[in-house]
Amino acid sequence: MSVSVEIISVGNELLTGQTVNTNASWIGEQLIQYGIQARWVTTVGDVADHLFHALQIALGRTQVCIVTGGLGPTHDDITKNVVSDFFGAKLALNDDILTKIKQRFEKRGISMAKVNEGQALVPEGATVLENDLGTAPGLLIQKNGKHIYVLPGVPHEMKAMMSRFVLPELQKKYDTGTFRIKNIKTTGIAESTLFEKISQRAAIQQLTTIAFLPGLGGVNIRLSAYGQNSDDAQEKLERAVALLRPDIEEFIYSDEKKSLENVVADMLTEKKLTLAVAESCTGGLLCHKLTNIPGSSDFFERGIISYSNESKQNLLGVPKELLIEHGAVSEQVARVMAKGVREIAGTDFGLATTGIAGPGGGTEKKPVGLVFVGYADDREDFAIKYNFANDRIGNKERFAQAALDLLRKKLRDR
Ligand code: ATP
Ligand code: MG
Repeated sequence: MSVSVEIISVGNELLTGQTVNTNASWIGEQLIQYGIQARWVTTVGDVADHLFHALQIALGRTQVCIVTGGLGPTHDDITKNVVSDFFGAKLALNDDILTKIKQRFEKRGISMAKVNEGQALVPEGATVLENDLGTAPGLLIQKNGKHIYVLPGVPHEMKAMMSRFVLPELQKKYDTGTFRIKNIKTTGIAESTLFEKISQRAAIQQLTTIAFLPGLGGVNIRLSAYGQNSDDAQEKLERAVALLRPDIEEFIYSDEKKSLENVVADMLTEKKLTLAVAESCTGGLLCHKLTNIPGSSDFFERGIISYSNESKQNLLGVPKELLIEHGAVSEQVARVMAKGVREIAGTDFGLATTGIAGPGGGTEKKPVGLVFVGYADDREDFAIKYNFANDRIGNKERFAQAALDLLRKKLRDR
């Protein structure tokens, strides 16, 4: 890979958090498809000095710079003036552009504001990039082997111009290769342990760039392989995956974009098996996840949210004595909840959750983050204990994920 790119995003709204800088992430994602990596993203407000300074830094370290935003006709749109200053180029009225802008307004039956004329000013020596979707044309300035693309901030205009001008030009100019990316999704294992389990790390890194991306539901491993063409990149990716998988196979639930509930749903549907769920601490989250899947009625029979001790007795048949002796958050109760809901619903599987989501309610023996996931099928019933973290909403996610993963493992072995 021979070319480096810097993206400069211009706009006060990007700094104050009013607008999320989706332009930069979209451009980065597109460049990668062409084997080009964005090395820096710089965001500046609508301040001429700041943009000038950002251009100085960017062109000191990159060959290609893509600037978006601030091309509009109003006083806060400074990009074109700053770029002209920067290159010491005069702004000259471009008649073609002026005609096009006028035509745009005529077509829409509205009169053109005087300020729009300013949009037809182009720095001398710059190439105009036509904007079919808006009034502000883009610019390409080439100087001392550097390329500076200036594009509008409006996302759909920017995208159209990236696809039409920038990406094909960069591809042609730099004879770029391509990237292939694979996401391997794991759960039930900490990032550091996962990392250590991968014994072929060095060999994998020869073939790909590997990233560990932890989230509430587990750790995603992202492998990206660069190749001269897509076959080459794909082949490297597959070799890396083959080196990675054996050490961590049991923790992988998907190597596509699928969620864990999707994976479980597919397994249940394929095997024509059914499920019922009894939830305490997850408060319906497990049912919510399962019923987000189109066609869930094929495998999902019912969910019972039994939060209080009374409801665990009334709705699931958990004996009062068990609740008194062991407490609602216990291995014994989780197991009976799963067994109870399975029997009541007449399904192949029963799953249950009971735990302490926090932030309050923990004790020394039963700390916040403790959860028991109950499991029942026609052959066995048991519960597994997990210890998670302190945040309530995060814990609900982790508890639900643990329950789904338990079922996934059982389904895999069927
Ligand atoms: P216009 O000719 O429409 O004025 P412009 O080039 O001046 O275009 P801006 O005024 O900077 O663009 O932004 C136009 C719109 O696009 C605004 O709603 C802005 O919030 C949005 N926008 C600008 N930059 C980004 C970005 N980096 N990511 C997402 N949205 C953006
Ligand atoms: Mg702006």
